[in-house]
Parts: sequence; C-alpha cells; structure tokens
Amino acid sequence: MKEDNSIDILKKQIEKCNNIVFLGGAGVSTESNIPDFRSSDGLYKKKNYPYSPEYMLSHTFFVNHTEEFFEFYKNNLVYKDAKPNKAHIALSGLEKMGKLKAVITQNIDGLHQMAGTKNVLELHGSIHRNYCMNCNKYYSLEFILESQGIPRCERCGGIVRPDVVLYEEMLDTSILERSIQYISNAKILIVGGTSLNVYPAAGLISYFRGYPLVLINKEKTAFDNRADFIFREKIGEVLSKLI
Ligand SMILES: [Zn+2]
Repeated sequence: MKEDNSIDILKKQIEKCNNIVFLGGAGVSTESNIPDFRSSDGLYKKKNYPYSPEYMLSHTFFVNHTEEFFEFYKNNLVYKDAKPNKAHIALSGLEKMGKLKAVITQNIDGLHQMAGTKNVLELHGSIHRNYCMNCNKYYSLEFILESQGIPRCERCGGIVRPDVVLYEEMLDTSILERSIQYISNAKILIVGGTSLNVYPAAGLISYFRGYPLVLINKEKTAFDNRADFIFREKIGEVLSKLI
C-alpha cells in the first residue's frame, strides 16, 4: 500500500465517519519528550538503580520501600512541563468536530486533556490525580511534587498515592469495560504509539468489528497483518495530515 495514496483514502473515510476511537500508547507521549520506559532508549537504561524499573513501579515496592518509590516516581514518571504535541491537538480537533468518540490511552500524563479532549479513558490512571489511602481526600500533582519524602494527607496523615496503576495492580474494571464498549461500537479504530505486545492494548483491539483498523507506529506491531492502513511516520505528523 502506497503511503501517499493511503493518507488520501483514509482522509475521505474519516470525513464520512462520526464514530472514531483512538487507542494510544507511550509513542504518543514520546513526541512530547516523555520517554517510553519500555523502549530501548527509555530512561531506565541510562540510570543505575539497584532494582529493575518494573520492580520499582510495583505494588510490592510501593508497600515495602515507599519513600524510594516516590523518589523514583517523581524523577522518572512525572514530566510536569510536558506540553501536548500535534497528535494530542489533532485528536482534540477531531473530538470537537463530533467525529472522535473516545481517546483510550495507556499514558498517565494528562496531555490529551491539556489539549482539550473531553472523553479520555486512562487505562493506567493519571499523575494528576492523587488520593489519601486512608480517607480518600484528593490531591494535585503539585502536592506530590512539593512533598518531602512520603506525601502525607493534611487531614489524617495517611499516605497520599498517585491514582496510577502499578505493576501487580488491577486495571480499573469500569474504565476497561467502557473502553471495550467504545471499541466494539467504533467504525474506525486508530491505534498509535504502541507495539500492541502488552496487555491490555492487544486484547482491546480484538473487540473491534469496524473498518478500517489504522495503525501508526514506527516499529512493527503484533497486529500489522490485521491492519487496513499502516503508517510508520510520527503519530503527530500522520494525524495532522488526516484531520
Ligand atoms: Zn487522609
């Protein structure tokens, strides 16, 4: 399939469609300079931590090494100055036009909302939401960043943790169910910035019954043979050409 041509064909289909869903992975955020911690040039390889990143972002580590968890988390998962890129902006525009029904994301950075998108399903939670594990009081990202050591609730002294899904923790079933609902009903599914090797993205795609399935990813994905359109360029470039 010739790329130049396929952009035009897909663009026509998007013009006619008002039920598009976008499923995004880490690659959407790397264009805002937020590193993908799973990719080979991700941040973890550059730093010498005594434990594996998966362990330092696990529930077990959080419970047993809470202070080190927050140090690692604040230094490696929070990019408070990151700005939405072309991909976030294009998707927000598509939602305003009434065409995009939902953005389903594995990212925790809140950049889709910052770009103005309203219906964002965050499979792995968000750095912007934090809550006291004892009394459930909500706290901002700033509160976490300004805390020394372990963030403590102002009201009850409980630990304030990010509403982010750690390794060993369950995904929020209601968000997962709503994601399945949107994907099952979608006419066009655009998947960007994920190799689709990792749960839950790979499983979610299997619910799609529409046409076309569009993949935008620099590397090969596990679903390339099932895709109707594949683009190997930057997500922001492709989406702004399409919209
Ligand atoms: Zn509390």
